[in-house]
Amino acid sequence: MQDTFGRNITYLRLSVTDRCNYRCNYCMAEEMTFLPRQQVLTLEELSRLGRIFIELGVRQLRVTGGEPLVRRDVGALFHRLGQHIGHGLDELTLTTNGALLSRYASALYEAGVRRVNVSLDTLDAQRFHQLTRLGDLNQVLDGIQAAAQIGLKIKINTVALKDVNAHEIEQLVIWCGERGYDLSLIESMPLGEIGDLRDAHFLSLDKVRERLKQRWTLTPSTYQTSGPARYQQIAETGQRIGFITPYSHNFCATCNRVRLTCTGTLFLCLGQENDLDLRQPLRDGATDAELKALILQAMRHKPEGHDFDADRLADGAQVVRFMSMTGG
Ligand code: SAM
Ligand code: SF4
Repeated sequence: MQDTFGRNITYLRLSVTDRCNYRCNYCMAEEMTFLPRQQVLTLEELSRLGRIFIELGVRQLRVTGGEPLVRRDVGALFHRLGQHIGHGLDELTLTTNGALLSRYASALYEAGVRRVNVSLDTLDAQRFHQLTRLGDLNQVLDGIQAAAQIGLKIKINTVALKDVNAHEIEQLVIWCGERGYDLSLIESMPLGEIGDLRDAHFLSLDKVRERLKQRWTLTPSTYQTSGPARYQQIAETGQRIGFITPYSHNFCATCNRVRLTCTGTLFLCLGQENDLDLRQPLRDGATDAELKALILQAMRHKPEGHDFDADRLADGAQVVRFMSMTGG
């Protein structure tokens, strides 16, 4: 699959639910109305679309949400998707808040998952509970440990938030360094309406990087995953640190990804509205060939890039969908 800018699309982020057991305040509103179940793709529909994308050239598939592990049949989905590893698919991964990781770690490993991204914004139990509105930090830490013990490589994702966790980033670097986890820092993005919180907490990672450089030796790393992070190597801890900076450094030029929501809408860009509904044709009995033709046609509409603008943060959401809807 190639778009009109010559980018090969080899990465699919598959959101399997819009539901979540947390309500992180930068991601969701406190009161969320989730989708009725009949609007959400079934296990069969998700695994069929997953296979179709792999046949079209997707080599990396990341399962996300909402919180993917709250979906009851998620174990079966991983099992099915995992069967494509080595047959078109290079890697099957997961982004999770970690709350249910203890329960699923071994099933994930057995399905062929080898790397998981766990979102963790603070190591302070009280702050964690405040930020997630529902979360128990110890449950997440136990989940991470269970996953690491089983052999899953862990990357921690942290959204950097001014006046919330900015002062904890050094501690997170040390904590990850001691455990052999990579760490990616993320700037908050203007997705979904959450009032004025996001503007108040926006923190530029350029500043964070400068501060970290005063303490550690950071050298640009050639390491590149299929994600948007730019990595630096920290000499003292031996670990990598990634910076995901949608505003400061536009990562669109090398974008290789598309996103499929749990309702079967294909989004060609996180920050734009171009989309294609696959659920209707799927439920109307479209053949694999017909679905593939639709997807290939949609690739022609992948935009060159998003146009998030840090100066417009105060205006509220620049894209009306929440990250949990499109799949983070
Ligand atoms: N529930 C899972 C989790 O928290 O890892 C997967 C879905 S979540 C939407 C995926 C990632 O998106 C998380 O790392 C989260 O911190 C991040 N995220 C959510 N809303 C965001 C926003 N507005 N800006 C930047 N990152 C955001
Ligand atoms: Fe849920 Fe993940 Fe959004 Fe937090 S970031 S509310 S865990 S979907």
